[in-house]
Amino acid sequence: MATNSKRILVTGGGGFIGSHLCDFLLEEGHSVICLDSFITGDWRNIERARANPSFTVVEGDVCKRLDFDVDCVFHLASPASPVHYSSMQVSTLMANSLGTGNCLELSTRVGGRMVMCSSSEVYGDPLVTPQGEEYFGNVNPIGPRSCYDEGKRFAEALCKAYERERGADVVIVRIFNTYGSRMRSDDGRVIPNFINQALEGKPLTVYGDGSQTRSFCHVRDMVRGLAFAMFTESVRGEVINMGNPNEIRIIDLASIVRNKVGSCSGIEFRDLPVDDPLMRKPDISKAMSALSWAPEIDLTEGLDDAIAWFRENSA
Ligand code: UDP
Repeated sequence: MATNSKRILVTGGGGFIGSHLCDFLLEEGHSVICLDSFITGDWRNIERARANPSFTVVEGDVCKRLDFDVDCVFHLASPASPVHYSSMQVSTLMANSLGTGNCLELSTRVGGRMVMCSSSEVYGDPLVTPQGEEYFGNVNPIGPRSCYDEGKRFAEALCKAYERERGADVVIVRIFNTYGSRMRSDDGRVIPNFINQALEGKPLTVYGDGSQTRSFCHVRDMVRGLAFAMFTESVRGEVINMGNPNEIRIIDLASIVRNKVGSCSGIEFRDLPVDDPLMRKPDISKAMSALSWAPEIDLTEGLDDAIAWFRENSA
């Protein structure tokens, strides 16, 4: 990784992954401007970063023109949990369309790289496993998740259009399920839900029969990989899956969390949400070969870290 200090814009830098990315970039000696509207981000996430003189926070909307003196851009700004994006569908589509356009305008203007933080949701409810970057996906364009899925697909198309027509330097990273400290207790995703339910002695809510699978990556592994995508010159123009390929059934995750917390919570089965993908597991061979990146934190260690954080920080 290049060690020259850069001035870096992180949109969505007040969010869960964004704030960890800001911390990581600051630790590496870069200057960071965090742009966040704080509709789903949280000022508490950037308390540590704000103590660093190389960190600037701007409360603002990525859908407005971006004028920043930076070398490169990470675009993460968007509601990201199913609960949030289904209650902010228009904002989600705008952050991923207008917002992505603004990030591309800025990065091409300054001649720097943009890392587009896309999502495994571009694969929708996949018909192949594991999902490799060449898979086109199986997405419902008008379903309740479509604002996010199609928003990210549009963002990817726009990145490729800027690359082909305007010479943009873009790397698209498809982020798979990621977890860790600073996830919002109310964001509805499975790991914060299960941990908080177990801590409160409430039943763990398993949607469907729990046989659907996900593969969970710890946030520290994720932000290290995102930085590699920015600073590895040779991946210009690539689309790269990033996540942990260890796949687990949701019902098994519930047992692990319950045991780790030491809770006697029961399991409450609820309806599976519409268009909920039945399986998800990244093929990360490209990230491993092109970036020499692989996740290092297994679920057991990562859950211990997340549980400790929720014990301290849940209201
Ligand atoms: N899920 C669950 N109970 C919950 C929250 C989620 O069983 O309290 C399931 C959800 O239906 C999905 C999986 O866990 O199959 C992961 O959901 P999450 O919202 O964390 O992320 P997604 O991968 O669906 O974006």
